Amino acid sequence: MRATLPLLRQYGFPAVRRKRLETLQVNLGYRCNQSCVHCHVNAGPTRTEMMPDAVIEEVIRFLPQVATLDITGGAPELHPRFRSLVSRARRLGKHVIDRCNLTILQEPGQADLAAFLAAERVEIIASLPCYTPELVDRQRGAGVYERSIAALRELNRFGYGGELLLRELLNNRALKYAPVGFLDDDPAKSGKLIHGLKVYAGNGDLTEVCRQHNVNEVLISSTVKELVVGSGIKVKDRGAHRLKGVPEEWRLYRVLQD
Ligand code: SF4
Repeated sequence: MRATLPLLRQYGFPAVRRKRLETLQVNLGYRCNQSCVHCHVNAGPTRTEMMPDAVIEEVIRFLPQVATLDITGGAPELHPRFRSLVSRARRLGKHVIDRCNLTILQEPGQADLAAFLAAERVEIIASLPCYTPELVDRQRGAGVYERSIAALRELNRFGYGGELLLRELLNNRALKYAPVGFLDDDPAKSGKLIHGLKVYAGNGDLTEVCRQHNVNEVLISSTVKELVVGSGIKVKDRGAHRLKGVPEEWRLYRVLQD
């Protein structure tokens, strides 16, 4: 391998200075339900290397020093301590990222994984190597494209689609919306930026947040609508919308304010 530092010096690359540590990324192991040809850690179903319990405990002890726990693998969800680690981090108020291969949601014993991730408000980072079924399956295994899309649909049912909605509102001028931010009562997400827009803490006081930030319309998905049944919050149907990257239509509702 060629030395990089002399090249950087030659082109006047600015000095890289370490800032405050914010994210702890941990690789829980090399076991994975897939064995993709491009996998840089050569993960797969026959790999046995997993993070030992003692190291998991070390990670938990370190958590107070960071804001975000970023979990990867292999398929990190296959580690027997995955869920307890996520829950411990969330109880400590940490933002948790799960680098998920999507098809893990359909593996035996993972039927409630989407519900768990949504309940713990875990951010999911997932990707496909291409948009065509043929190339995805060639790289990741037969049927992976279809199973990944099914997993995305399942995640959308649990409310993982807000970022797609925001992108559509920003890009589709016909909708005539000027989004000002997200509302989320998860304190770990408060103040973060998504496509340059801030996440505001809900704190259960929707009217106050809207007044403070000059918001005149709040949109929610059908999932949230079902969650607020019985809360006294009134909503009005704002129609079905197609979002790029979401196979089915999204029905949106406007929160009516007194
Ligand atoms: S899903 Fe990710 S970790 Fe698993 S084999 Fe593919 S690239 Fe590797």
